[in-house]
Amino acid sequence: MATDYDEVRSDVKESQDNSLEALQSANAPDARSVVRELDEADAMDESIVPGGEFVAEELVVQVVPQAEDEFTCYSCFLVRHRSQIAREKNGHAYCIECEG
Ligand SMILES: [Zn+2]
Repeated sequence: MATDYDEVRSDVKESQDNSLEALQSANAPDARSVVRELDEADAMDESIVPGGEFVAEELVVQVVPQAEDEFTCYSCFLVRHRSQIAREKNGHAYCIECEG
């Protein structure tokens, strides 16, 4: 009985191995390409997200600082060179475009 059991079991195991090999050889290329695409997608996400955050931070930082020879128009709120001040009123400057 033990011998028969081993034979049946080895046959089953062999057929399982064969089907597994067939499955692996059939799926391996697709599986690899899927994994590769996922890896590339992850890599793109990692490169895009920090870059997007960095750009967003840089935009905020660029709006706030104001050079000493610049002013922010109190009407259009654009930062302009001081040579473009057309009027100053109550400590607020107005550019030549808003006053012109
Ligand atoms: Zn203005």
